[in-house]
Amino acid sequence: MAELRRLYRYLTPYWPRVLGALIGIALSSMVTLTLPYAIRILVDSVFVNKDFAELNRISLLLFGLFIIQAFVSFFYRFMLQYVAQRSIADLRLDIHRHLLRLPLRFFTNHRVGDILSRVSNDVTTLQDAMVSAPVGIIRQLLTFGGGIALMLYMNWQLTLIILGLIPPLMLITTYYGKKLKRLSTEVQDRQADATIILEEMLSGVRVVKSFVRERFEEQRYAEAIEAGFERSIRRARESATFIPLITVLGFGAITLLLWFGGRQVINGIISPGELISYLFYMIFVSSPMAQSASLWGRLQEAAGSSKRIFEIIDEEPEHYNQQSTSTNRSHNGTVAQSTALKVGGEVAGNVRFVDVNFHYADNEDKDEDEKPLVLHDICLEARAGEIVALVGYSGGGKTTLVNLIPRFYDPTSGRIEIDGVELREYDLQMLRSQIAIVPQETFLFGGTVRENIAYGRLEASDKEIHDAAEAAFAHEFIEELPKGYDSIVGERGVKLSAGQRQRIAIARALLKDPRILLLDEATSALDTESERWVQAALERLMEGRTSFVIAHRLSTIQRADTIVAIEKGRIVESGSHDQLLAQNGLYKRLYEMQFGEPLRS
Ligand code: ADP
Ligand code: MG
Repeated sequence: MAELRRLYRYLTPYWPRVLGALIGIALSSMVTLTLPYAIRILVDSVFVNKDFAELNRISLLLFGLFIIQAFVSFFYRFMLQYVAQRSIADLRLDIHRHLLRLPLRFFTNHRVGDILSRVSNDVTTLQDAMVSAPVGIIRQLLTFGGGIALMLYMNWQLTLIILGLIPPLMLITTYYGKKLKRLSTEVQDRQADATIILEEMLSGVRVVKSFVRERFEEQRYAEAIEAGFERSIRRARESATFIPLITVLGFGAITLLLWFGGRQVINGIISPGELISYLFYMIFVSSPMAQSASLWGRLQEAAGSSKRIFEIIDEEPEHYNQQSTSTNRSHNGTVAQSTALKVGGEVAGNVRFVDVNFHYADNEDKDEDEKPLVLHDICLEARAGEIVALVGYSGGGKTTLVNLIPRFYDPTSGRIEIDGVELREYDLQMLRSQIAIVPQETFLFGGTVRENIAYGRLEASDKEIHDAAEAAFAHEFIEELPKGYDSIVGERGVKLSAGQRQRIAIARALLKDPRILLLDEATSALDTESERWVQAALERLMEGRTSFVIAHRLSTIQRADTIVAIEKGRIVESGSHDQLLAQNGLYKRLYEMQFGEPLRS
């Protein structure tokens, strides 16, 4: 329940409304409890004495009370909804803000579906339960407590008999409650299984069709659905027995009350009105009992959901501003220098790796030295404006090496410097604003072409955007789109070819005008024709910037100032094209394997 306490911190800014709502609830329960009393007067004074004046007065009074209750009810329901919706909106914003600041590691270690389900399903569960469940419980407790007190006051003997029925009722309710809850969870789990299978089938429909696996997929889905069906039937059986059982007990209690109370009425111990009002109290008191169990269950559910949400919120974010952590080293000269850089604008773009070792920190349980290093003793320098080409077999660590520069990951040991200052000393956002990345496949947001190009500099003018597109050889095809720069791209928009997307990505990078450029196989997903255009755009992009290029294209590699061959996380050769060919090593082998072939040049 500690999670719930944390959750309720989201309510604290709105405590006056919460308090107001609680007062409203108390008032409303009180009004409800006056009804049986009025009925008693009706029966005993009005009906028995045939008193018309009293009848009018009481009817008017009741009418007035219910009008008041309607107002009170409007007031507290609205307040509660306001508080619930507002605090859930705050929570969603908090999670989103936090997700944006989590390191890349988090996203590689968690499935998108899992994160999405926490942010949408779990938050929705909370929205339903977080406010209404506890408020319901409070309301039921007030009605129950008030009702029992009045019943004891009116007729303690009868009340004790009725109270004696509560323990067996509670036993039955909790027994079935637990059973039903367990079965409900199972039903939901099976349904989730089925959804996963469905989702896989939908996204892999091409594979399913080409391997003629329709029957197999049908079977898989049917198994999950049938398992869910079987559970829900068991649940139906349990709840079908539970409800009659409770009903029998309830009507048994009413019969008992009528019998015992009827004797008291006949013996003149109580009036008929007392018995009837007593019956009403009993009904008012029993419904809270029935509802509390389900409200309690919902509260439990909310606790589960908030646990899953706080797991995300408790993930350590990236440290954007290093200022606070580096103040204790402020006597150190480099820190003073970097503080100036944090405030000021640009770096020149000298990048240096010094003895960098790296491993991914995903298997936390292993010992530090047991984790396999992905990069070993990397020493590498690119002076401002130079091009460094990285070559090597797939899985060698090229992408990993390049990802260390914008600090998507930090070296396990060793250091990376820009302009002689270690990366950690820079403000993270300032550092990343100096770097542009063009990956193998570009992500375009579901907005216009213009918005996608301006993503890195939202304030760019139309002219700047057009110039960037022109330089990226994208202007022409953009103009030919149905709405030009205002065409919508992304899932629901115009379909662009991989090469067109890549050129939009290059325009985006050009507009950002970074000092350092990271190209990770930017052309490898393209056919020869579009590769030519993208390649030309890339050459413009690289002009005057420090560039790290992972490429398979000979012309790019030959232009590089340094070629670095990487094998199993180590730099095995580095130098110019001719030097490396002469070494007769990895580069030579790669060259003969891919670049040497005429179709690749
Ligand atoms: P390349 O780009 O040269 O093909 P990578 O840098 O992608 O190589 O991968 C280097 C090694 O690191 C591979 O063994 C790969 O399995 C591993 N690796 C890559 N990304 C991750 C990750 N996010 N978590 C754990 N291991 C990874
Ligand atoms: Mg790679």
